[in-house]
Amino acid sequence: MTDQRNTESARGAQLVGAPGRPADDKPAPQCTHWIGSERRHCKEVDGVRRFLPGFCCPLHTPSALQGKPEPQPGPGWPAYREEAK
Ligand SMILES: [Zn+2]
Repeated sequence: MTDQRNTESARGAQLVGAPGRPADDKPAPQCTHWIGSERRHCKEVDGVRRFLPGFCCPLHTPSALQGKPEPQPGPGWPAYREEAK
């Protein structure tokens, strides 16, 4: 008796599926910021983006909560990596 597993098909099954964007059947993300003075979550849905703490509306991003300007998109680390070669 040998215990052979079909690892090929197991690997193939994991590759099935659309990479990148999540499926559209998920509920719209809401801002998860806790508004202490109102004792409720923000639950804003406009302009919500994902951050490390969770989903945040533009008013409650980590930068906004610290009173800092939002980081602007632009050239990042890969550009410097090219330069270093
Ligand atoms: Zn919010």
